[in-house]
Amino acid sequence: MSAANTVNFQYWNKKMETLPRAELEAWQLDKLREAVGFALRTPFYRERLAAAGITDAGGIKTLADLKRIPFTAKNDLRDGFPYGFLSIPRDEVIRLHASSGTTGTPTTIYFSREDIARWTSFVARCIYGTGCTQRDVFQNMITYGLFTGGLGFHAGGEEVGMLVIPSGAGNTSRQFRLMQDFSVTVVHATPSFLLHLEAKMREEGVRREDLSLKRAFAGAEPYSEDTRRRIEGLLNIDVYNSYGLSEMNGPGVAFECQCKNGLHIWEDGYIAEIVNPDTLENVPDGETGELVLTCLCREATPILRYRTRDLSAFYTEPCPCGRTHRRLHRIKGRSDDMLIINGVNVFPSQIEEVIMGIKEVGNNYLIVVEKEGALDRLTVKTEVGPDIFMDDSRPLNALKERIRKTLQASVTINPRVELHESGSLPVSEGKAVRVRDMRKKDV
Ligand code: AMP
Ligand code: ZN
Repeated sequence: MSAANTVNFQYWNKKMETLPRAELEAWQLDKLREAVGFALRTPFYRERLAAAGITDAGGIKTLADLKRIPFTAKNDLRDGFPYGFLSIPRDEVIRLHASSGTTGTPTTIYFSREDIARWTSFVARCIYGTGCTQRDVFQNMITYGLFTGGLGFHAGGEEVGMLVIPSGAGNTSRQFRLMQDFSVTVVHATPSFLLHLEAKMREEGVRREDLSLKRAFAGAEPYSEDTRRRIEGLLNIDVYNSYGLSEMNGPGVAFECQCKNGLHIWEDGYIAEIVNPDTLENVPDGETGELVLTCLCREATPILRYRTRDLSAFYTEPCPCGRTHRRLHRIKGRSDDMLIINGVNVFPSQIEEVIMGIKEVGNNYLIVVEKEGALDRLTVKTEVGPDIFMDDSRPLNALKERIRKTLQASVTINPRVELHESGSLPVSEGKAVRVRDMRKKDV
């Protein structure tokens, strides 16, 4: 894009970022063998790989042998909880993270000291590639904790040498104060929080000119190109799309460079395939399918051919920035039904599990997701059991509150709850339609 003519591209690791494809593939083969070696130390992969005729890392002779490796699904990781995928002695693990959306049985990823260092350098590569330097002041407005976005970006920012402010998510007034007090130049947040922040700015009389902001990294949930442009226009900054998932360490998997035309997936750390979710065959380059990732940069928890469920496509043209790593289109959505509500992943089945466990709740329910201002709002509509009287408001309100609280405790979002008379919610003829997502794709 126009940036290519005007920008001096900067590379965190120029050699690796611009490695010729043949050398990049030789590197990948080497690392794939290592990853298979680590995987063979785990009971899950020992069995799965043996069934595919792979009993030692030497069985991987070319990159084409990747296709012999069976896919790994989220449920496999859940079944392996807590230590089924750990491939090094527990004493050598220095940290764990878990997926944000999983309650009940979470999926856990373990890191050795070297794993953290490798992950951090990928995040630093992303940050530096957008033009940031150690002169920048970086406010990380995302949840810290088990979610990888907090500590992952934090460490990457420090690696670049920026002044990092671990503000965490929420509390817009405090975010503004920090931005002003420390002349913050770059932030990281979900796109919906950035839109919310802008609305709050107007409410609180904070002017764009009062801030020193130049850039934002926005990710953790899908958003459209129009949303990016809207945020950029409102805040007068550059917004870069950041893609990652806890199974692949977290942020730092794929990121936009200054050309802002697709996300470079770091192929020295990950092997990316795009498959047809029904046939599981690779789709031709440029066609949309499900992203399948193999982690090449983590020894403590090897994950091979992971079905992300995220839908994307490869760009076929090289990027003007000179990086040789392929680019992904922004994620179009998911091949399963996971909802992302203000950055928190929620499966409708988790909601169902909760409400169906409450005996006063009837048999039918509907989940509605809509935009309220810049944020997502989740409404859970449930029928009440036939022996509940709709004209007695006291017990109804108590029931509503109980459902709300139970949902909040288990899926960490705060839904609106509506109770409906038994039999009054729509029933479909074929498969039940449980989710109505009213959010427009283009905000
Ligand atoms: P988690 O493992 O909890 O960090 O969630 C990872 C999931 O968040 C991914 O598999 C995607 O579905 C979603 N996600 C993360 N970053 C993006 C992004 N930039 N665009 C769209 N979806 C994203
Ligand atoms: Zn580029």
